Amino acid sequence: MERGHIFNPSYVLVTTPSLLFDMTVKPLEGMAEGSVLFVNSPKEIPIEQSKKIRVSYGDLTGLALKYLGKDILSAAMGAVACKLSGLISLQSMVGAVEEELAELGLETDIIEKNVQLAKECYLSTESVELRGLSHKPLHKVVEVRYLGEKGIPDLLSTGNTALRKTGSWRVFKPIVDKNLCTACSICYIYCPEACISLDEQGYPIINYDYCKGCLVCATECPRNAIKAEREIVWS
Ligand code: SF4
Ligand code: SF4
Repeated sequence: MERGHIFNPSYVLVTTPSLLFDMTVKPLEGMAEGSVLFVNSPKEIPIEQSKKIRVSYGDLTGLALKYLGKDILSAAMGAVACKLSGLISLQSMVGAVEEELAELGLETDIIEKNVQLAKECYLSTESVELRGLSHKPLHKVVEVRYLGEKGIPDLLSTGNTALRKTGSWRVFKPIVDKNLCTACSICYIYCPEACISLDEQGYPIINYDYCKGCLVCATECPRNAIKAEREIVWS
């Protein structure tokens, strides 16, 4: 399998809707008329796009939580890609998931859960035929690298991490229950994004622009005062 930039994709699959609004990612750039966009979302989202593309949605995160108990989406997204293209049978897709996950050394029951997840994703997705594509596909593969000022901020350059608002990565949003919180500061210390500050009484304030939803704070809180709510609104 080759990995690299695809400049004019016929199919684009977006794992989290917040990426649609991320100006450093621009997942729709390069899509031509007639191409197909799939968004992992429980509901439709207004998408500003001058070209006529066809959009479909599916709540893969909800299905991953149902089968795996975690928002791990690789098998789900792969299954949707297979079905959207209309080129890969259910049997071939299941065989590929089993083979790939076995190579990673996963246990049989985990592989089976992923297969069940992939099957439901495949069966609940409609194939979307490519019609009237306005470009000829470019078979051009280049090395993956960061694109300097035009792309994702390069962490090796100084002073630009503020540009990367990691809040757009979040699947679960941590919410502090002040009735349970004892202002012990543990979440403030453990947050890997340093996006928790303390108010004058020592209670935590989460900066959701940068909170990436890792839930380390919720795991470490000795009072179980931080709840995780699934994020379903993006802007
Ligand atoms: S979820 Fe992660 S990034 Fe967000 S406040 Fe908690 S520890 Fe920090
Ligand atoms: S770790 Fe829990 S109890 Fe301590 S400050 Fe954070 S939310 Fe409050």
